[in-house]
Amino acid sequence: MAKGNEQPGSGTAVAGVAATGAAAQTESSLFQTYARYPISLVKGKGSWLWDDQGNRYLDFMCGLAVTSLGHAPEKVGAKLKAQIDELWHVSNLFQIPGQEKAAALLTANTCADAVFFCNSGAEANEAAIKLARRYHQKVKGTGRYEVITFAQSFHGRTLATLTATGQDKVKEGFLPLPAGFVTVPLHDTAALEAAIGPNTAAIMLEMVQAEGGVHPVKPEFVHHVRKLCEEHGLLLIVDEVQTGMGRTGKLFAHEHYGIEPDIFTVAKGIGSGFPVGAMLGKGYLKDAFTAGSHATTFGGTPLASSVVIATIETMLEDQLPERAAEMGEYLMNSLRERLVGNSFVKEVRGMGLLVGIECAEAVGDIVLAGQKRGILFVSAGPNVIRLLPNLYVSKEEIDEAVSLVATLIDEEHVAAKNA
Ligand SMILES: *Cc1c(COP(=O)(O)O)cnc(C)c1O
Repeated sequence: MAKGNEQPGSGTAVAGVAATGAAAQTESSLFQTYARYPISLVKGKGSWLWDDQGNRYLDFMCGLAVTSLGHAPEKVGAKLKAQIDELWHVSNLFQIPGQEKAAALLTANTCADAVFFCNSGAEANEAAIKLARRYHQKVKGTGRYEVITFAQSFHGRTLATLTATGQDKVKEGFLPLPAGFVTVPLHDTAALEAAIGPNTAAIMLEMVQAEGGVHPVKPEFVHHVRKLCEEHGLLLIVDEVQTGMGRTGKLFAHEHYGIEPDIFTVAKGIGSGFPVGAMLGKGYLKDAFTAGSHATTFGGTPLASSVVIATIETMLEDQLPERAAEMGEYLMNSLRERLVGNSFVKEVRGMGLLVGIECAEAVGDIVLAGQKRGILFVSAGPNVIRLLPNLYVSKEEIDEAVSLVATLIDEEHVAAKNA
């Protein structure tokens, strides 16, 4: 078989590919869509991870807000193992009792009346966008299709969701983008009102812009968005892919604001690491998604459903949203106390256990230095350190993380001063 880096039709090597020549990159059979850290994690338990060299790490990123019950949670693992011995997959053309139960658990504990299961956050948002369009076009007969989103938002990497995303970096090289999306600045009421037109179908936003730098949206703005949706007959879509499932101190972040979305999406925290996404909506939207209007092969299989049920039941039994609220306060207060007066730190902010430390300069080096000291966390945009521990995290683990992160920031501060 012909292999290599030749461009089709040109016979010459792609300069960019040949020049990047790092050994790890040329040896890998993967598309290099991630700039991977040189660490191979091979084992996890609770808040801790181990690499193939036996080094231990305190995990304050959780696969990016995914492993909210900690690594290898026993109750969920037991349910998954039991299901593995029974049945893995059947088509959604059949009744799937586990999927019904998972959906009923979600509707019993949220303002939603109906659930569509898929496999990722982007797919959940795709489903939300499709549902909004179809509701307007098939139920209301208005032909509306446009979705208004906000600058610095993040909604996924499919063509529709990257178009919805308010960050240019995810759009480069993917033209033409699908029509029907408008982005306005966050907290800009005038721009939002001006963007609403006869084709507007929905407004879509995160309650905390997580990837965009850990920015909680102001309550008065959220209330205004809800009011505009009423006035103009628009659907409010809340992207809870990162904020959902207890992370912010409520089961879903919109509960903090006292509003009910028409549609909201969830993924990262709902499967404890098993790939699951879901789109939830109000009962009046049921007529828009009828047999054959939307589908996915792997959505809500018996295996996936067993994990979702066990994850939700565990979260409710152990009151993990409440715990996230309490531990999030403790984490943010400890950081503020420890970092007070440090001019490198601009702000500590967040909601529950979704916490950001905004710094004066880029934090990439701090993330790398953390890995060498045995703590894992990520950035959110160039200047913000993002902390996402699991929802069982203990005060001792938080103390350890605060001490490590603060020391790393102090060292970076000194290095920046001396530069
Ligand atoms: C991660 C994320 C997505 C995309 O989820 P995937 O599972 O990676 O497709 C969408 N929206 C938000 C807010 C996210 O944080």
